[in-house]
Amino acid sequence: MDHPPIGIDLGTTNSLIAVFEDGAPRLLANALGNPLTPSAVSMDNDKVLVGEAARDRLPTHPRETAAAFKRSMGTNKTLGLGRKKLRAEELSALVLRKLKEDAEAALGQSIRDVVVSVPAYFNQSQRQATMSACAMAGLNPVRLVNEPTAAALAYGLQDRDGESQFLVFDLGGGTFDVTVLEHFDGVMEVKASSGDAFLGGEDFSEALAKGIADKCDTPWSKLNTDDQNQLRFVADGLKRRLGVSDSHDVTIRLGGETHNLTITRTFFETACAPLVKRLLHPIERCFYDSNESTETLDRVVFVGGATRMPMIRQMVARQFKMLPDMSIDPDHAVALGAAVQAALVAEDRALDDVVMTEVSPFSVGIATGSQLRDGAVMEGFFSPIIERNTPLPASREQYFSTMSDNQVLLGVDVYQGEAPMVSDNIHLGRFDLSVPRAKAGVEGMSVRITYDPSGLIDVEAVSSSTGRKAGVVIKDNVVGLSDAEIKSKLKALQKFKMHPREDEENTALLARIKRLYEMASGADRTMVQGLLVEFEGVLAKQDPTDIATARGEITEVLNRIDDYYVS
Ligand code: ADP
Ligand code: MG
Repeated sequence: MDHPPIGIDLGTTNSLIAVFEDGAPRLLANALGNPLTPSAVSMDNDKVLVGEAARDRLPTHPRETAAAFKRSMGTNKTLGLGRKKLRAEELSALVLRKLKEDAEAALGQSIRDVVVSVPAYFNQSQRQATMSACAMAGLNPVRLVNEPTAAALAYGLQDRDGESQFLVFDLGGGTFDVTVLEHFDGVMEVKASSGDAFLGGEDFSEALAKGIADKCDTPWSKLNTDDQNQLRFVADGLKRRLGVSDSHDVTIRLGGETHNLTITRTFFETACAPLVKRLLHPIERCFYDSNESTETLDRVVFVGGATRMPMIRQMVARQFKMLPDMSIDPDHAVALGAAVQAALVAEDRALDDVVMTEVSPFSVGIATGSQLRDGAVMEGFFSPIIERNTPLPASREQYFSTMSDNQVLLGVDVYQGEAPMVSDNIHLGRFDLSVPRAKAGVEGMSVRITYDPSGLIDVEAVSSSTGRKAGVVIKDNVVGLSDAEIKSKLKALQKFKMHPREDEENTALLARIKRLYEMASGADRTMVQGLLVEFEGVLAKQDPTDIATARGEITEVLNRIDDYYVS
């Protein structure tokens, strides 16, 4: 028998999987014993590596490795994985498959039904792509849950009888999400959600990397890809270090030159000041949409690894005059909440008194024409039918009439977005409805849009005179894959050989040694090479006890070196 539904946080940077058992959510660790699996995939000869080893191969094997592909979800973009080119759904499917396998090993039971979290502002194509990724991994997504909602569920469960208004502030690797919620006697209501799809912790690393490049008098744009990748890696480590200390020394090799630098927290914060400022816009919009004020806010909940930066804490303290709540590890909250949502779907008795309401993150409507003052008709205006931040499920109807004499076809072009002209919004789908010939304005149709809590949309148009119906479930849009394509991709992906689980610790260690070799210089480099020779030697003898001992010893040395080069 399959395990009951299980929760997955499919992150840009890290992914996690959690179960709901005995009234509480619990994270499942991967084969390396870590609940966080980096969302990275790498091709090692004919085998696929997913997670830590893949992430460590990013600087050493950039062409064989893909990461941050969540940013390309819902587009036709492909990323290189050695000689292969894969879409974001396929790469995500490989991550999901790994999570599935690790979780199955931990549970001793197979998994099929899952609830997967997505950013609140993910549009239809991106949601559909996430569902396709699940299908390609052999999983059945019973529901998508918005990430901030999931985090709120994890927090809400802690304090079930309370009454509070809170803000979920989620700063992940590539995205920023803010949500205002109200919690009252187990009923959780999302008031409004907003965000920035192109602002996350990686941008802070990149800003620092660029600042360091300038400091070394070698502008970022002049660096080759390898140097840029390496500098990003160093900056990422520094970013973490500077959260706990005021300054840190680093050694960087750029264009063959070695630089010894001291980077201070102030230097980092100055480089990131414009990014911190950008965080304010979505917050303002969210409060505007929710009709709430910052004064009635009871708490600000921190989610996402990047909220660990002190400058974020300071900004929030200044803005809301309170300290953020991090009582649940910001890395874990979304996955834990996805597991709670999974239990809600499965109607777990422990959650009888918990109710969750969602809102639509976008407005959804259709394209219409408008008569201009001189009588001419101009097309391409957006007529929203469901406004953004409407509680879900929602179903709304609006009437539209013909615009010209003898018009026998009414086109229904569905869009999502907030711009007044549809050309600036996202096209979701199209269909036509035929109506009897008549004078302009006589015939018409009612268009009903139904929006379910997973964010999936159904559109139906009915002719007012004949009752004839037409409609679409927004599913097969321009960039999405058809069911047949998903099936064929599922097959193709099954042919990808995964690295054996029992080998994973060794592979991850080898990847780490090679990354450090690349980063280090001089005597350290020689030492790292020595470790590589030593480890390959032990591996060749195939004695599990010796291998484990060597792994422990080598890891200790690597930690010391990593400490110096920051990672
Ligand atoms: P996502 O939801 O996008 O997968 P996460 O919530 O896992 O992202 O956050 C990843 C981001 O958090 C990365 O940019 C990472 O560098 C950053 N991060 C993790 N730990 C820290 C830390 N201690 N200090 C600063 N940034 C951190
Ligand atoms: Mg996240």
